[in-house]
Amino acid sequence: MTSAISIHPSVDGGIRSVQVENFSGGTLTCKCATNPVQVQVSSQCAHNHVCGCTKCWKPEGALFSMVAVVPRDKLSVVANGDKLRVVDPNAVIQRYACRDCGVHMYGRIENQNHPFYGFDFIHPELSKEEGWAPPEFAAFVSSVIESGTDPAQMPAIRARLKELGLEPYDCLSPPLMDAIATHNAKMSGVLKS
Ligand SMILES: [Zn+2]
Ligand SMILES: [Zn+2]
Repeated sequence: MTSAISIHPSVDGGIRSVQVENFSGGTLTCKCATNPVQVQVSSQCAHNHVCGCTKCWKPEGALFSMVAVVPRDKLSVVANGDKLRVVDPNAVIQRYACRDCGVHMYGRIENQNHPFYGFDFIHPELSKEEGWAPPEFAAFVSSVIESGTDPAQMPAIRARLKELGLEPYDCLSPPLMDAIATHNAKMSGVLKS
């Protein structure tokens, strides 16, 4: 099914079910024609989703990014890492972008108390390998207004996301919000682990 609304090139044609078992990752490559940055990921990704926030890297013309996590010890920069720079050193997630093409290669959390510490954020579409776990939901949907989307478009955007099987949330999905709250409750001592 086609739609006038482009959510993200990797999902606009529908989400194919792929064999996600036994997939052990691939190589993320930036958009530079010469000397591209390459990042090796030796793991399947988890919690893949499309994201409407203003911080994630999005391909040209897309309303949403596609972003997932992998264990940080399964990710390594293997080529032209000297071209990487941190987009915003003050952000919780340190997003490493190619200084030439602007593509974000991975995002890393250095705060060991953060609920997602230990995971790096990646854009699986940057790899040619097939078998990445497909996106499961849409996060921070209302935030696309902050990047210039007409608020009147929101009902159509949410309808398209649902049509694609990507349940729209205006924060993260309930399981991830629960994981964050559980982590915070354990940190504060409210919840005994
Ligand atoms: Zn590049
Ligand atoms: Zn985002």
